[in-house]
Order: sequence, then C-alpha cells, then structure tokens
Amino acid sequence: MITLIISASLACLGICGALCIAATERTVSVTIEDAKIIWTLHKQSSRCRHGKWMLIKPKNGKVNGFQCECGYKYLQKKSLIT
Ligand SMILES: [Zn+2]
Repeated sequence: MITLIISASLACLGICGALCIAATERTVSVTIEDAKIIWTLHKQSSRCRHGKWMLIKPKNGKVNGFQCECGYKYLQKKSLIT
C-alpha cells in the first residue's frame, strides 16, 4: 500500500518537475515536500537508518536539494530535457 502511495507521489513529482522545468528553464528548485519524499525514498532504497537531514539552499533562497545524515546528497539537477 505504502509502495503504491510512493509510486504515485513519485509519478506526480516527475510530472510536476517536468512542468516546472518547462516553465522556468533556468532555476531548478524542489519544494520541501518534494525533498521529504525523495529522502523517504532514499531511506527505503538504501536502508538508511538516519533520522536527520538538511536542506541545501543556495543563495537565491530556493531549496535545490538536501543532505542526509549518512552523507547521501541529493541535488536537483538542471533540466534533463534540453
Ligand atoms: Zn541516509
């Protein structure tokens, strides 16, 4: 059941991400909610047991990634569609 919800969230995230990229082109950022979902996925896929994470914020104030306590770093890359 949880897997289903996560898959659905991920699919949604992908669609939203694609729309975001299409709309903004230059700056790519993730919302805190998105980061949370990705972190949850990271914990499941790598069996990470750490409970802390930090958002990575560049100077423009937008969130563009996060770092897990275990050292795992996620950064939203610029547009995959060129
Ligand atoms: Zn971790």
